[in-house]
Amino acid sequence: MPIATHPELNDAHAALKELSNSFANSRLLPGAAERDRSGEFPDDIYREAAGHGLVGLNIPERFGGGGLGLTESALVLEELARVDGSFALTVGASAGLAAGHILRAGTEEQAARWLPLLTGGELGAWALTEPGSGSDAAALRCRAERKGGSYTLNGSKMFISQGSLFSVMVLIARTGEGRGGISALAVEASDAGRESRPIPGKLGMRSMDTAEVVFEGCEIPAGRLLGGEGEGFSHVVDVLTEGRISVGAIALGLGQGALDAALDHSRSREAFGRSIERFTGIREQLADCAIALAAGRGLVYRAARYADSGKDAGVLAAKAKLFSSEAALRVCDRSIQIHGGYGYIDEYPAHRFWRDARLLTIGEGTSEILRGFISRSEFK
Ligand SMILES: Cc1cc2nc3c(=O)[nH]c(=O)nc-3n(C[C@H](O)[C@H](O)[C@H](O)COP(=O)(O)OP(=O)(O)OC[C@H]3O[C@@H](n4cnc5c(N)ncnc54)[C@H](O)[C@@H]3O)c2cc1C
Repeated sequence: MPIATHPELNDAHAALKELSNSFANSRLLPGAAERDRSGEFPDDIYREAAGHGLVGLNIPERFGGGGLGLTESALVLEELARVDGSFALTVGASAGLAAGHILRAGTEEQAARWLPLLTGGELGAWALTEPGSGSDAAALRCRAERKGGSYTLNGSKMFISQGSLFSVMVLIARTGEGRGGISALAVEASDAGRESRPIPGKLGMRSMDTAEVVFEGCEIPAGRLLGGEGEGFSHVVDVLTEGRISVGAIALGLGQGALDAALDHSRSREAFGRSIERFTGIREQLADCAIALAAGRGLVYRAARYADSGKDAGVLAAKAKLFSSEAALRVCDRSIQIHGGYGYIDEYPAHRFWRDARLLTIGEGTSEILRGFISRSEFK
């Protein structure tokens, strides 16, 4: 598979892209379709990716990460998603959301306890959404009650990536009332009083773990609080900004995978005595797809560079995620169209890309929520 072009890549970025492209082609591509059918998460390949330094690029080196930035993370996520969206999103949620929250809010000691696990190939989860609150995240009800030297957790979390396979979960829970009563706590897999129920029947992203997580009298040490009590929501906002850059990059990867597949098919498929690639109607569709992805790259990498320079990239990240996820869906839809009837069967990857991409206008801020946020920020 070719490497998608990025006019602004420096040599180090190009080398990183080459490494992740080669890993994705050799290790992810062979089993991607089968994993989509079986729903099995490739734990061994994930650990291998971590061994190659492809997990946690923006985590400091002292915690086993790459010591780089969101730009480098995005480059890698894009290459992984071009082949396997579930795998890329697992990296994004585990080494991005969960590790990012621990890095941002945790003490040096807490970071040293959990981050090397996550950069080493164990899985992290980040649990904000609940059965009764998604977009309206501040309405969450899961409670963490402090008694002496411990917190007792009660409540449910919904749609949690790695919710049944995690080693450490960042749980966003209520320690008081209102937005200022929201805190983050680290839950370990061995903590008693937690039950994870994998959610069956997903449209896409099938080989990543998604679970409902229920807490009933789960007691954890008070030292698991990440940041101060009541600081959880402001960290959530920052973690979601970084997450949206990652989701934008994953959308671009899925779109590129779908475009590559459409191009391959259009070259090998013949109609009316010539390959369909030679029809203007097909070439224009391919061109439109390439333009949409190039525009998305402009937004995603601009947001990543802005965040890497230490500035507040909230609005840029929202624009990048919104545009790229919607562009990816259009590209995936075009890919199915160019495949004709073959786009509709699972022997060809076009519909897997579409099914995977379908999540990305929903997770980490729906398109509706992001449009509202962008318009409030732009048109005060
Ligand atoms: C596969 C998968 C993995 C996920 N992984 C995680 C994870 O790891 N951690 C986690 O915390 N969450 C996770 N989520 C949850 C995801 O972030 C939520 O599904 C998402 O935020 C939307 O919340 P909701 O499903 O409750 O929808 P709702 O908030 O109920 O929204 C329903 C509809 O109403 C619209 N809507 C709501 N409010 C407004 C408004 N003010 N204006 C206009 N429209 C509005 C929405 O845009 C949407 O179209 C995951 C979800 C899935 C499906």
